[in-house]
Amino acid sequence: MYRTHTCGELRIENQGTQVTLAGWVQRVRNLGGMTFVDLRDRYGITQLVFDENTNPTVKSKVDELGREYVIQALGIVRERSSKNKNIPTGDIEIEVSGLNILNASLVPPFTIEDESDGGDDIRMKYRYLDLRRNPVRNTLILRAKMAHAVRSYLNSNDFIETETPVLIKSTPEGARDFVVPSRMNPGEFYALPQSPQQLKQLLMVAGFDRYYQIVKCFRDEDLRADRQPEFTQIDCEMSFVEQEDVLNMFEGLTRYLFNEIKGVEISEFPRMPYAEATKNYGSDKPDIRFGMQIKELTGLVKGKGFQVFDDAEFIGGICAEGCAEYTRKQLDELTNWVKRPQIGAKGMVYVKYNTDGSLKSSVDKFYSPEELAKWAEVFGAKPGDLMLILSGPKNAMLKAIGELRLEMGNQLGLRDKNVFKPLWVVDFPLLEWDEETKRFYAMHHPFTSPKPEDIPLLETDPGAVRANAYDLVINGVEIGGGSVRIFDKELQARMFNLLGFTPEQAEYQFGFLMNAFKYGAPPHAGIAFGFDRLTSMFAGLDSIRDTIAFPKNNSGRDVMMDCPSVISNEQLDELQLKIDLKEK
Ligand code: ASP
Repeated sequence: MYRTHTCGELRIENQGTQVTLAGWVQRVRNLGGMTFVDLRDRYGITQLVFDENTNPTVKSKVDELGREYVIQALGIVRERSSKNKNIPTGDIEIEVSGLNILNASLVPPFTIEDESDGGDDIRMKYRYLDLRRNPVRNTLILRAKMAHAVRSYLNSNDFIETETPVLIKSTPEGARDFVVPSRMNPGEFYALPQSPQQLKQLLMVAGFDRYYQIVKCFRDEDLRADRQPEFTQIDCEMSFVEQEDVLNMFEGLTRYLFNEIKGVEISEFPRMPYAEATKNYGSDKPDIRFGMQIKELTGLVKGKGFQVFDDAEFIGGICAEGCAEYTRKQLDELTNWVKRPQIGAKGMVYVKYNTDGSLKSSVDKFYSPEELAKWAEVFGAKPGDLMLILSGPKNAMLKAIGELRLEMGNQLGLRDKNVFKPLWVVDFPLLEWDEETKRFYAMHHPFTSPKPEDIPLLETDPGAVRANAYDLVINGVEIGGGSVRIFDKELQARMFNLLGFTPEQAEYQFGFLMNAFKYGAPPHAGIAFGFDRLTSMFAGLDSIRDTIAFPKNNSGRDVMMDCPSVISNEQLDELQLKIDLKEK
């Protein structure tokens, strides 16, 4: 037997017990006659003591020990003279009489401590050592608990967990596919699923009624912060349901998870139309932990000789409560912040509503105090507040003001990580116009159904058609999204046509789904949650990377395995692939 107890479980009640522990050497302290070793495993740390009377063979092995050695120690539990209140085993230690070195270890390239001295790259290269650290492992334990809770909620609601294949035909979710060459079918390729979208719809045709899967999805997207080429979704589909049924079921899941895992009761769970979200928050994923909604001034401020406003399609901003005292320097910093290319504003106008009731703006030349007072009314500003105003093209400015709102939310401490405000954003546009390619794209995916009342607009005003699509947003992060599906093959054909697929292309890519729809497809709808993001939110992390045991870096590389990597000529031959690499 390697051990009788773990390194986290012995207490003062175990005094006098003969035990065997096994684990990793966290540290060794040699204090003259006594040597102390902190022995660590997943469950905790227990102190081992070797005193002068330890027999000489044990003593010589102790002298060999280094960090991360794997050892087995036999001894008696005794009360510590100087207790450590910081750890649950801190009242006891093990007086060791037998020691086995199970494995030696090189000196690790960084310290295996809660706060490590290792930089990101080195931690990723030696991820198995990084995973020995408590905070990293705890996130993965949290993830496992969440997956368990997801399963228990969905199982108890009659969802059938079903695996779908990983080698499939391309599914369009708006990204590039990862492809896998087929040796047995030279020149032909599988695609890795961007999501199991069509397969889950087929399961509805198959009468499964309720499906779910915690499933890997693959998207070959360009480098973007906090994206992983492979990520995990909680993927679900339901039959004979309307949008409302799906929202209720998954509002239920969200509440259940918060309650079960974090002990948090979610009170409100509002629904907000997309149009309202973009108008008031400049975003389709509004952070509603705080107000500071966007107000429009366009009609009020034009025609007063201020060229910048006169030329702008849209003028609007936010009111930052209690910020009238912002200094010149702070305002300059904010102005520079909105002028960064990511935000894209040309400049920023401010109005200070001073505590004495006076108004001071950066455009006093053009606007009288009476006029500024009207602006303040629009903003609902009170003495002590600061109004920040941007102008330019409408959509771009709404977005920019939305970003500025989040930044001010950060500066004012309004985005508390321990407060959770979920909501549904509903009524998304069905289609998105792309200026570059001059065509419409499906905002969600091509199987999303238009709102029935908007169907007549499909050919006349496609941009105005709203979809039966919804996103779950928590604290400004898109956690999930889904839609009611088209289940009528005629409507699906119209949709493919709108998206610029010829009937032949549609047949080639989606023929199997269209065929299935000829055999009695039930009305159905579904959703997928981003499981990595949900976990990072529950863990209070800013990145999804540490919610994944072996993540890839920002260039999509696994630096530990060192891949992607070249394959041998034999493999290439077998696959009948020729690679013509330009000289590097
Ligand atoms: N397949 C969609 C996605 O991955 C989710 C859904 O519509 O169910 O975003």
